[in-house]
Amino acid sequence: MAKQEDQFKKVLSHAKEYGYVFQSSEIYDGLSAVYDYAQNGVELKKNIREYWWKAMVQMHENIVGIDAAILMHPTTWKASGHVDAFNDPLIDNKDSKKRYRADVLIEEYCAKIEGKINKEVAKAAKRFGEAFNKDEFLATNNRVLGYQEKINTILARMGKSLENEDLADIKTLIEELEIADPLTGSKNWTEVKQFNLMFGTQIGASAENSTQVYLRPETAQGIFVNFLNVQKTGRMKIPFGIAQTGKAFRNEIVARQFIFRMREFEQMEMQFFVKPGTQKEWYEKWKQTRLKWHLSLGMGKENYRFHDHDKLAHYADAAADIEFNFPFGFKELEGIHSRTDFDLKAHEEYSGKKLQYFDHEENKSYVPYVVETSIGLDRMFLAVFSNSLQEEILDNGTTRTVLKLPAVLAPYKVAVLPLVKKDGLPEVARKIVDDLKWDFNVFYDEKDAVGKRYRRQDAAGTPFCITVDHDSLEDNSITIRHRDTMEQKRVKISELKEIIKAEVDVKTWLQKM
Ligand code: ATP
Repeated sequence: MAKQEDQFKKVLSHAKEYGYVFQSSEIYDGLSAVYDYAQNGVELKKNIREYWWKAMVQMHENIVGIDAAILMHPTTWKASGHVDAFNDPLIDNKDSKKRYRADVLIEEYCAKIEGKINKEVAKAAKRFGEAFNKDEFLATNNRVLGYQEKINTILARMGKSLENEDLADIKTLIEELEIADPLTGSKNWTEVKQFNLMFGTQIGASAENSTQVYLRPETAQGIFVNFLNVQKTGRMKIPFGIAQTGKAFRNEIVARQFIFRMREFEQMEMQFFVKPGTQKEWYEKWKQTRLKWHLSLGMGKENYRFHDHDKLAHYADAAADIEFNFPFGFKELEGIHSRTDFDLKAHEEYSGKKLQYFDHEENKSYVPYVVETSIGLDRMFLAVFSNSLQEEILDNGTTRTVLKLPAVLAPYKVAVLPLVKKDGLPEVARKIVDDLKWDFNVFYDEKDAVGKRYRRQDAAGTPFCITVDHDSLEDNSITIRHRDTMEQKRVKISELKEIIKAEVDVKTWLQKM
C-alpha cells in the first residue's frame, strides 16, 4: 500500500513538474477536484482523444460524430432520470465532519478483503514455485473461498439495498462491518442520504424570467435528442453509432483522487443503435472491441479486467466496466452499457415527438435499442500517464526517470538537439525542425549538456531525440536516440521522417487491434 501511495505521489508531482496537469486556479489554493491541462498535458489529452476518434469514427463506416451543446433543455434531464435519480448515497462522519460515498466505503472494505486473497496467492505461489496453478488455488483453497464468499455476500446485499433505495440498510451494513472513517478511525456515522450530482444554473437575465438549466452530467443525452436528426440527414441504417467527446459536470461527493474523479471532466462516448433483440450480441461485441482498443496501446494485458455489474442503472439490461490497474488499485476506466430503449422512449414521452426508425427490411418502425461505450478522457490520461512513469536503475548505478508513453500519444514525437550552440550546428538543427514540423510535433532544445537534455526528454516522454554534431555538416547524418532502449543509431537526415513515422503513426498502433 505504501508503495502504491508513493507511486501515486510521484505521478502527481511529475505531472506538475513536466507541464502535464496543474491544479485549477492554483494561485488561489485551487478548486477542489478541478484541474487544468498544461502545455504537454493538452497534447497528450488531444492525442488520446484523436486515437479514440479514429478508432471509433474514422474506422467505422456506420459511426458518425457530433458535438452537442453543454446546456440542454431542462426537460432532457427529467426524461433521462437525472433529476430524480442521479444521486449518490452519502454519509457523514459526525466526528471528523468528513463526507463519504457510502457505497465507496463498502467497496473499499471489500477491496481490503481482496488484498488478503492476493496475499494468500502470493504466499502459495512462493511455496509451490513452478508447480503453482493460480486458478486451481483460487477455486479450492478454503481460506480464499471464504474471503470471496464474504465479498460476494456484501456486494450483493449492497446492490440490492441500493436498488430498493433502502438507505437504512446501507447504514446498518456499514455498522455491521465496523467500517471506520479512513482518516480518523471514528465509527460515528450519520444516516445515509441521497445527493443529486448535477450542477444547476440559470438561463435568462432577470430572476422572474430565468429558467433553471443544468451543466450536462453526461454527453450521452446530446446524442439521444439528436438521434433522428443524424439518422435522417446522414441516411444512417441500423445498426449505426453516434460518437461524441466533450465536457461533463458532476458535483462529486468524494473527489480526492487527482484527475480520476473530477467535478468537470471530459467523456468520449459512442451510442450504438441496434434492432431490439440484438442488443446482447452487440454488447458483447463492443466489450471485446473496446478492450482491444486499450490493449493496442501496449500497457499490459494484466492491467485490465472486466467487472460485470450486479447493480444495474435504471436504464440498463447489462453493464460492465473495463477496470484499469491505477496506482491505487483496479478502478473503472470505461463503462459498456446495454441501455435498452429507455432513453429514446423517455424522450418520446416527454417531448411528444416520435423517435423511431423505419426498418425497410422489416417494413416497420421501432424505437432502437442502444449499446453505449463511455470512457473518461481524464481517467484514460491518468491510466496512460501513471503506467508510463517509470524509474530505471542504469548499468552505471544512476537512476533514470522515464515517461514511457505509447509513442502515438506522446506530446512531442521528437526533440532536435544541436550538440553545441555554435559552429553552424543550430542552423542545421533548425532546418531539420522546419522540415519535420509539418508531420510531427517537434521540440527544439540547445540548452545544457546533451546528456542532460536526453534525460529531460526521457522524463517528458519524447520517444526520439536527434543530435546534430560536427560530422552532420559533412555526411548529412545525425544520431537518433530511442527513449525506451536508449539505443543510438547514425542515420541520414533524409531517412528521419520514415523512421519516426513508423513508430508514431496512428495506423501502426491501431492496426494492432
Ligand atoms: P464512477 O462509478 O467512478 O462514479 P460512473 O459509473 O458514474 O463512474 P459513468 O457515468 O458510466 O461513470 O461515466 C462513464 C465514464 O466517465 C467512466 O467510466 C469514467 O471513466 C468517466 N467518469 C465518470 N465520472 C467521472 C469523474 N467524476 N471524473 C472523471 N471521469 C469520470
